[in-house]
Amino acid sequence: MSEQVRVRFAPSPTGYLHVGGARTALFNWLYARHTGGKFILRIEDTDAARNTEAAMQAIYDGLRWLGLDWDEGPLVGGDFGPYFQSQRNAIYESYIAKLRAGGHLYEDGGALRFRSLRKVQTVDDMVCGKIPFDLSNAETHPDMTIRRPDGSWIFHFVNVVDDIEMKITHVIRGEDHLSNTPKHLELFEALGATPPRYAHIPLIMNKDGTKMSKRDQGAAVGGYIEGGYVPEAVRNFLCLLGWSPKDDREIMPISEVVERFDPANINRKAAHFDLEKCDWINQQYILQMPLEKLAEQVEPWLTKAGINFDTRANILPVLTLVRERLKKLSDAPAWMDYFFTEDFPFDAEAVAKVLAKPGALDHLRALAAAYAGLAAAYAGLGKWTAAALETSLKSQATLAGVKVGEFVHPARIGATGRSVGASLYHTLEVLGRERVLARFDRALAKLSATK
Ligand code: GLU
Repeated sequence: MSEQVRVRFAPSPTGYLHVGGARTALFNWLYARHTGGKFILRIEDTDAARNTEAAMQAIYDGLRWLGLDWDEGPLVGGDFGPYFQSQRNAIYESYIAKLRAGGHLYEDGGALRFRSLRKVQTVDDMVCGKIPFDLSNAETHPDMTIRRPDGSWIFHFVNVVDDIEMKITHVIRGEDHLSNTPKHLELFEALGATPPRYAHIPLIMNKDGTKMSKRDQGAAVGGYIEGGYVPEAVRNFLCLLGWSPKDDREIMPISEVVERFDPANINRKAAHFDLEKCDWINQQYILQMPLEKLAEQVEPWLTKAGINFDTRANILPVLTLVRERLKKLSDAPAWMDYFFTEDFPFDAEAVAKVLAKPGALDHLRALAAAYAGLAAAYAGLGKWTAAALETSLKSQATLAGVKVGEFVHPARIGATGRSVGASLYHTLEVLGRERVLARFDRALAKLSATK
């Protein structure tokens, strides 16, 4: 039986969680889930001065938001902890003793340095293939420092020790670490440990070919959370940054990605970051996700906007109407607010435009009467339907000898206070007879006064 895959995401909490880091975490998570292995979160917080609590929280929040649950690590524990490098000093000391006993260390001005093995180290990478690094030249490859004079640890050493101690089988990380890997191989060798398999994943580039930086738009995962993106959509987008299924499909449920994910399919070429594509994917998710689930994701945005929707059941018919207008979850309040309050504003520009049309108020008055009659005729028993409302409005337009639009626009303003929205007849149906008739009355009073 082959050993269980153990992979890790090992961020240094010195800033916010960036898409590059999130993508690294995602690929590790995918590989763990694909193989039935373990995904470990390890916090590389040796640089006490640069680490912040806020950055740590951003990592937890970002991973959780993306649904990347870790099997071992902070908050969940595990058999190989502690999972903070700042708490693993005793372990590092014991490895120092091992290296020292093997004659691999020497002091240099208070710093501890590792005596290079001075040979070719070949990185056998799952993505990049076999790459030999010749470390025989001390001029070009000076001995690495592993501990500073102040006692703090250098990344290479603690990273390798932890990968050994945590029994990491595969290291999937950014290509920016490829040049570090021969140094890591030396440490594994000196410690008599078998190195993990490596997969260095391509860098993420901006559309213009420059390397993506922390300041670029879309770089921080927190921006997607606050921007009203659907987490599953962002995760789907990140999956495609350097990996793709052979058939080039783009929208894929995560279960399918897990099933198909193979590091052998990771591109060698740089991944191109395209926020517009992320937006498009986001919209596809909004259109396609089950209505109940969409309601669940939209709810916090409505609440935040102070919209009193009472129960989720009230949201569902409205969402059915407006979902195709939503690009982000955060767009929901603007498209939905007037369904939940009678106290909605009238868009001045839309009002002015409608009133500029001769007869607009007469049309609205006629429509209000027709709709009241329609409701009375059927005693409101289920005939307040989009189809009936449409037929009625159209016959009013015919009677008046004007285009349908001459009735549609005043009706929309009257019922919603604005000139754009979902299908008018469906909007009126969802609002219901009483509210529409009352709104028409109020609008007539208000607009007559305006005019
Ligand atoms: N702390 C390192 C980083 O954030 C980890 C690199 C690795 O995955 O080995 O880049």
